[in-house]
Amino acid sequence: MSAPQVIGVVGAGTMGSGIAQLAAQGGARTLLFDAVEGAAAAGVERARAGIVKLVEKGVLFEDAGVIATRLEVAGALEELAPCGLIIEAAPERLEVKHELFAALSHIAPRAVLASNTSSIPITAIARAAADPSRVVGLHFFNPAPLMQLVELIAGLQSSEEALAVARAAGEAMGRRVIEATDGPGFLVNRCNRPFGLEALRLLQEKIADVETIDAIVRAAGFRMGPFELQDLVGIDVGFEVAKSFYELSFGEPRWRPSPLSAQMVDAGRLGRKTGQGWYTYDNGTPHRVADPDAPEPGVPAGVDGPVLISGFLPIADELRALADDAGFTVANEADGAVPWLILECGPPEDDAAPLQGAPRALLCAEGALQALDQGAAAAGFHALSPVGLVELTQTEATADVAAQRTEAFFSALGLPTAWVADAPGLVLGRIIAQVINECAFAVGESIGTAADIDAGMKLGMNYPTGPLAWADEIGLDHIVMVLDGLREEYGEERYRTAPLLRRITAFHEHEHFEHDHGEP
Ligand code: NAD
Repeated sequence: MSAPQVIGVVGAGTMGSGIAQLAAQGGARTLLFDAVEGAAAAGVERARAGIVKLVEKGVLFEDAGVIATRLEVAGALEELAPCGLIIEAAPERLEVKHELFAALSHIAPRAVLASNTSSIPITAIARAAADPSRVVGLHFFNPAPLMQLVELIAGLQSSEEALAVARAAGEAMGRRVIEATDGPGFLVNRCNRPFGLEALRLLQEKIADVETIDAIVRAAGFRMGPFELQDLVGIDVGFEVAKSFYELSFGEPRWRPSPLSAQMVDAGRLGRKTGQGWYTYDNGTPHRVADPDAPEPGVPAGVDGPVLISGFLPIADELRALADDAGFTVANEADGAVPWLILECGPPEDDAAPLQGAPRALLCAEGALQALDQGAAAAGFHALSPVGLVELTQTEATADVAAQRTEAFFSALGLPTAWVADAPGLVLGRIIAQVINECAFAVGESIGTAADIDAGMKLGMNYPTGPLAWADEIGLDHIVMVLDGLREEYGEERYRTAPLLRRITAFHEHEHFEHDHGEP
């Protein structure tokens, strides 16, 4: 299928002018229409300026003037008649989209009609078209000229031919086109839901404060923490999206909006745009605590025995290797020498003798420290592979020596640490386990493939790595332990494990998502 030679864009705002720029860059004669006088001309100017910038940067090799001649203002909707594809980027209101799709059906009866909606079901928009089989979703990310991703969404009645036309246009624009079926948030926004929602739960439970949660998430390679991101997007905008997910799914517990967002909206603290959200913005810049420098690795004075690291999870192997590199004597099991510290990474083997006789630290994966340790004086910790920052926790029963040695041990590995309150998975483990769980639900429900999810989360959401490839690195056992721990302690449906995750861990010893092939 070749890309259409004439593409129309309706709505010349933030998204429309960027999409028109991409269409022209992709070689199509591009007609931009807006209902407000002068807006399409301004959109064409922005698109032309964007093209000049990309040519100057060496991203585009064609002459900027030549690309610019392909961009035209459409003075009336009727001028879109010659288009093979029309992309609608008008305001996010169903009645506006309905009016446009009904009109466009008559103006260009053979054109494929695509909507750039972020949250309205494509099937609902298509209802107004004369031929709903010609309607698809083509969801770009902001800023469109820079983001490499586009989601192609099949409504209930979208035809293969219409999908192929839209795909060819997306590819001619140089984008990675991933496929999603119609549903709340399509693929990428849906898989990213827990990034914000789980952070809000952690805050609500006072597991850590806003700055600490953001710092922990940044330390895992994200450009922004969840609260910084909410302030940037607008807390009111995010809250509307959260309500729409909940309504469209008829009350899915994983997508229940947070009362904390409602409270912020009530208070008028909407984020950067109001000068105050989760952070206060004096002169437009947020107050942010500097991320801690990684300490110098090396065994501290006074270590008088081996470090015993038990467990079969990948994190145990990683910590053994790091401890060995830092100069510790590392033991796998109690072998006579009194350890300086015992780190238990996950449940012991069935026939293993209980580890005791030294200060202990427990990986808080399958439960909170309080539940795992039952008052036996251990400290708690949690980290995901690849280890960046290590989170530490303690209860009233934790011995000072266990807390001190645990912190000293991780510092000696060259890893920054942060103290947080007690919960299964602590902060990062809980957020990422829920993100991976959401991705597994999406694969299991055929919303998209594992390969498309990983590409989409990296290109559309700036994830440091695809969540499903990351799940393989962390170990699915580890992820399921955190989810089971949360489910058991909270008793909430929100934390039920996706059937696909359960199935893969049950049937394979070295379980993993075959993300390269797109199928689990
Ligand atoms: P915007 O408000 O910046 O632009 C909308 C434009 O549509 C305006 O220029 C307005 O004058 C014009 N318009 C209004 N009614 C019209 C009509 N009947 N016919 C033609 N033009 C009309 O909005 P936006 O941020 O560009 O969003 C547009 C669409 O893209 C929405 O559906 C939104 O959900 C979706 N989207 C937005 C983002 C984002 O980050 N802004 C990202 C992905 C998708």
